[in-house]
Amino acid sequence: MNTLDCYKVDLKGISAGSEAFSWHVDDEFFSAVQGREITHGSLDVELEVRQRAEAYELTFHIEGEVAVTCDRCLASMYIPINADVQLKAKFGTEYDDDGEMVTVPYDEGIIDLAWHIYEMAALEIPIRHVHPEGQCVGESDAELWDGGQSERKEIDPRWDKLRKILDNNNK
Ligand SMILES: [Zn+2]
Repeated sequence: MNTLDCYKVDLKGISAGSEAFSWHVDDEFFSAVQGREITHGSLDVELEVRQRAEAYELTFHIEGEVAVTCDRCLASMYIPINADVQLKAKFGTEYDDDGEMVTVPYDEGIIDLAWHIYEMAALEIPIRHVHPEGQCVGESDAELWDGGQSERKEIDPRWDKLRKILDNNNK
């Protein structure tokens, strides 16, 4: 069995109108998916599939962390992921995916979610991602403090709270 086979969901097999799935994805998943941005990580994925009249509603909850490259020091850093994402699927004659609705060939009836899960995690990564100040690899404490002052405007707002905590600790 292929590493990614378990992420294939048989929509025709959804019983009683809804069904829940859960996976834990890790480095093996990311190396099999071969995405460019994430190569390491650990995520818990929960999925509920609900059958509606016209389509299937897939509700994902993805939580954990993934490793990306720091924009400032190029070392690896972990980014927390906590996402709720919806996807819809319906049957048709040919496979299609417009980003919100996946059309699954009726003859097959199976939706392959591996790449969708990867993309959902990748979309949670901020465009600019840097270590919290003081944690970049190769920076001495002095460089770090100066660098922090000059780069302050560029810091991703998501790190702002953490930065304030670090600032307070340095005072
Ligand atoms: Zn860094």
